[in-house]
Amino acid sequence: MAIATINPATGETLKTYEPLTDEALEQRIARAAAAWEAYRRTSPDQRAGWLRAAADVLDTDRDAVAELMTTEMGKTLAAAKAEVGKCAKALRWYAEHGPALLEPQPCDAEAVGATDAYVVHQPIGVVLAVMPWNFPLWQAMRFAAPALMAGNVGLLKHASNVPQTALYLEELFRKAGFPDDVFQTLLIGSSTIERVLRDDRVAAATLTGSAPAGQSVASIAGDALKKTVLELGGSDPFIVMPSADLEKAAEVAVTARNQNNGQSCIAAKRFFVHRDVAEEFTRLFAEKIGALTVGDPMDADTQIGPLATESGRDDVAGYVDDAVRKGATVLVGGSRVDRPGWFYEPTLLTGITPEMDLYAEEVFGPVAALFTVDSLGEAIEIANSHPYGLGANLWSEDEGERAQFVRDVASGMAFINGMVTSYPELPFGGVKQSGYGRELTELGMREFMNAKTVWVG
Ligand code: NAP
Repeated sequence: MAIATINPATGETLKTYEPLTDEALEQRIARAAAAWEAYRRTSPDQRAGWLRAAADVLDTDRDAVAELMTTEMGKTLAAAKAEVGKCAKALRWYAEHGPALLEPQPCDAEAVGATDAYVVHQPIGVVLAVMPWNFPLWQAMRFAAPALMAGNVGLLKHASNVPQTALYLEELFRKAGFPDDVFQTLLIGSSTIERVLRDDRVAAATLTGSAPAGQSVASIAGDALKKTVLELGGSDPFIVMPSADLEKAAEVAVTARNQNNGQSCIAAKRFFVHRDVAEEFTRLFAEKIGALTVGDPMDADTQIGPLATESGRDDVAGYVDDAVRKGATVLVGGSRVDRPGWFYEPTLLTGITPEMDLYAEEVFGPVAALFTVDSLGEAIEIANSHPYGLGANLWSEDEGERAQFVRDVASGMAFINGMVTSYPELPFGGVKQSGYGRELTELGMREFMNAKTVWVG
């Protein structure tokens, strides 16, 4: 894949980049390793100060960087601005809580015959972050804020279609006053990742992206005995039970499916509605999907912009066409939009069966698949039969149903009467093919830290 900015709203190539030469890559890895030797000795309070400065830089740069993201991957400008704000919030959260989370944790010294015993969390070194284009600033920040707070050094290999946002991230941390080279962007293709990951100066890797990309990075890292965190795909269930507020559930369902033009790992993708309320919910859901405004993502009235890449749009169209061929019913949408760029209509399908390709895959676009079920147990059983297990949504006022959902749904996150969202205050991650490890909170920060046991006689 060429490293280039191609505007998905027009299909126009705006800027292309040459990947780093072997020599330039070697220099960057060497500089990262040297930077870590000094950076790991900085105090948590110093790092918190730089994180706060980075949040301030983001506040200042908000409009410009939002426009850059919209140009590179097609999210609406309003969504891009909100993403910048969310990144500033995460930086401030780690600045506020990081120093306390990095305090040594006392252990029971007497029980182990010591005068003192404690655990100290120390940074592990240079961490490679392989990131996707869908939230080009936020996904990278979810790694960068805790990693830099911890005292690690970051090497970012961003998706090839967001090079300018990737370069901005390096500039952001430089402008905030972080020491040189603690966060560098590597403009490289995915075939060069192995060379970086096998380098002895690189300690670990985190990848957010598709399952095949995760498998590739995890197997190389496994061979080299290096730690990984994987945030992969999702096909989150959204279950609606008879006690739910149907109007509210349908409204949130539309956002949960169509956020980011339908390209979010934690988008609700499969909707399981109890038979008693299926007709009413389906009517509300279809009406609201049909009312969405598709158009230029720079336009303030637009709710759904283009898909980020031409191949992504082809994949979405392929899933819908396959389902329709095999008997699915299209209630709303179902086609490409006839205009330049890679637009696809917000779509609602029913009559989904296991023979259809989309049944066990992730559709990365504005396509909702609706199933009618007879019980919560049936909804959870079908939901759990999917290889992914990232987030899950339940709409119910019934305490027993809520408890059953939390106990039985196979996911890393379970949201009740609201849509799955990421917050710095809550751990984020999945199970099964959605990956392993957690981001955000102290759990995210400690993924790439050495919990060193100290015993003093
Ligand atoms: P992708 O094709 O896997 O790309 C993600 C990153 O991995 C890019 O930097 C890409 O580089 C690189 N990559 C691609 N193939 C690779 C390989 N074989 N080995 C190593 N690296 C490789 O995914 P995407 O299309 O950008 O993003 C969509 C996927 O990400 C969806 O499945 C979505 O659910 C998932 N996602 C998950 C989360 C989460 O938190 N769980 C969040 C967002 C997205 P190039 O661009 O150079 O190919």
